[in-house]
Amino acid sequence: MAAEAAVRFDGKDRSARGDQARYRPPSKLWEQEATMVLTTARALTEEDPRWRAVAARDRRQDGAFVYAVRTTGVYCRPSCPARRAKPENVSFFAGPAQAALAGFRPCRRCAPDAGGVAETAAARVAQACRTLEAAADEPPGLAALAREAGLSASRFHRLFRSVTGVTPKAYADGLRAARLREVLGGRAGSVTEAIYDAGFGSSGRFYEAADRLLGMTPSQYRAGGAGAEIRYAVADCWLGSVLAAQSERGVCAILLGDAPEPLLAELRGRFPGAVLSEASEDFAAVTARVVALVERPSDGFDLPLDIRGTVFQQRVWAALAAVPAGETVSYAELARRTGAPQAVRAVAGACAANALAVAIPCHRVLRSDGGLSGYRWGADRKRALLDRERG
Ligand SMILES: [Zn+2]
Repeated sequence: MAAEAAVRFDGKDRSARGDQARYRPPSKLWEQEATMVLTTARALTEEDPRWRAVAARDRRQDGAFVYAVRTTGVYCRPSCPARRAKPENVSFFAGPAQAALAGFRPCRRCAPDAGGVAETAAARVAQACRTLEAAADEPPGLAALAREAGLSASRFHRLFRSVTGVTPKAYADGLRAARLREVLGGRAGSVTEAIYDAGFGSSGRFYEAADRLLGMTPSQYRAGGAGAEIRYAVADCWLGSVLAAQSERGVCAILLGDAPEPLLAELRGRFPGAVLSEASEDFAAVTARVVALVERPSDGFDLPLDIRGTVFQQRVWAALAAVPAGETVSYAELARRTGAPQAVRAVAGACAANALAVAIPCHRVLRSDGGLSGYRWGADRKRALLDRERG
């Protein structure tokens, strides 16, 4: 995974039929819009050739795709004998791995994840990920990984990509970047020492890769983003003040607070070495989009984000971004969706490290008993956001 990916959280499988349809509208106008969204979702599903296979419970299509039902949170084989779902609640996925990544559980009746081709494929990819994680020093190349998985290089590459969304090389780079960050952030040794610790054989190769991995040179990174240019503006919103900040890669911070000064201090704390400059009028459109996002989180956010975090944090944030407005998730469930069910504390840590309020909706995480739990920008704001999203 690219370490500082410019990501758009709209689109893909989080389409209108998913989260917006679930949003409970506060007013008549919203009811009309929600009805329209549902009608559109129904039409989209009915036009999809895969829906015909589902309607016919076509056994021959088993293994070609799975379908998920938003109201039950379950995904099925096309031939599942269970009661047929309403088309407006249905979305399609290439396989069990993708449906699971989106937070759906396998159906108990048709067991779409059991024994099939797809399960074997997901297991092979998972094994390759473990191999890459274990060998951060000198990650095995594509040929070696493919051999281990018992596939040709091109088939393995395609499979890895379809399950994880990134290439094996990008995944290995992401691991090294994460390790590098830990080392650079963690102690005072020389940059060269850190390079060898992070598994780069020669510093030449390292400098070549550093900009790609960190988005800045190593010395800059150690100095807290020294030299990186970040523009920001503060505006009023219904939750108080909101600070929007943007690097050359995208929106890198959205912070909430009572007044502008503490927000600026928080931004400085998060990017201590960066050159911060207050933005001029040409930034007004960005600020307006950020205010609109805070105003109506269910509408989503369509500006690129500059997400800075470890591979693990990014996985947690991606899982968070898939939680629709109007819904919440527990830390334990989020850990499960991240693929690390044992790492509940680390998941909570990743939520707390989020710099993009609302855009990465860490306010949608509750304690397992439904308690509000903490929020970086104040429990009252968290409650207010959740109330608004529930309608
Ligand atoms: Zn089923």
